[in-house]
Amino acid sequence: MKIVINGINANLRFSSAHIIPKHDFCGYIHGHSYFVDVEIEGDRSGAFDFVIDFKDVKKSVCKICKELDHKLLIPIFNNNIKFKFADEDINFDFFEDKEYVEFNIDGKEYKIPKIDVVLLPLKHSSAEELAKYFTELLIKDISSILKENISSVAIGVNEGIGQGAFFKMNLI
Ligand SMILES: [Zn+2]
Repeated sequence: MKIVINGINANLRFSSAHIIPKHDFCGYIHGHSYFVDVEIEGDRSGAFDFVIDFKDVKKSVCKICKELDHKLLIPIFNNNIKFKFADEDINFDFFEDKEYVEFNIDGKEYKIPKIDVVLLPLKHSSAEELAKYFTELLIKDISSILKENISSVAIGVNEGIGQGAFFKMNLI
């Protein structure tokens, strides 16, 4: 059986800015009103014969949405984002003592207060990468309640209505 949480109705949403370097249309800072759909497959089990409790899943996804909400999303492993003073093998430690995130994309200089950004361990801030990011974070966050009855977890990150990417992780 499959449970489905529709992000637009269940209020699993966030509004963020991002940039897809070198893309002709999305290579400029712009924003989306994202919403996140969840599909979890498995057998029904436990005292209530649930696949999984909706409440636990929504709470976790909502927490991830809140972390990204009203921020500029910056994937630190993008080859076209050159962080000032950073070397090739950049990691989160580099940003630890910084007040600003300074970077260059194709000759354009950016200096953004760190408090305005979320640094992501990703190559892109695309819907595809965000869907994978959400799926992995959700699985980690609810690992204590993920029982053997769950066979897969999938998350769709939508950049508004009618445009999104789904990532599915099989657990067995
Ligand atoms: Zn976009």
